[in-house]
Amino acid sequence: MAKKFPEDFVKVGWKNIALEPTKASFKKDNADYWGQFTARENKIEVQEEAEGIDLANTLLHEVLHAIVYHSSLNQDGGALKDGGTCEDREEQTVNSISNWLMGVFRDNPWFLPFLMENIDMPKTTPKKSK
Ligand SMILES: [Zn+2]
Repeated sequence: MAKKFPEDFVKVGWKNIALEPTKASFKKDNADYWGQFTARENKIEVQEEAEGIDLANTLLHEVLHAIVYHSSLNQDGGALKDGGTCEDREEQTVNSISNWLMGVFRDNPWFLPFLMENIDMPKTTPKKSK
C-alpha cells in the first residue's frame, strides 16, 4: 500500500503531530468521521479508506482542531469552549472553516500555489498594510 501522506507528521506551530492512517472507524453521535485529532497522544488519525477530497478535507479539518487546541480556544474562557447554548462550538467552527476553505482551494486552483509561492518570499519594497 502506498504511503498515505508524504511525511509521518505535520508541523503545527511548535508541535510535530504524528499522522497515522488507521482502520478504526470514528463515530460520534451516530455520525461517521474520517479522522480525529487526539491532543493527549499528539496525533491525527485518518481512516485508510479516505481518499481524494475526503482525505484532503479530513487533514485540513484535523489540523484546524490542533490549532484550536494549541491556541487554547477550547479552554475555559476560550471562544470555542462548549457550554451555554452551544455544546459543539469547536466542531461547528472547525467544520465550517475547513469545508469553506476546501471550496476556495477547489474553485481557485491558483490559490494554494500562489500562497506557497509567496509565503517565504522576502519583501522587496516595504509597504504598510492596512
Ligand atoms: Zn472535527
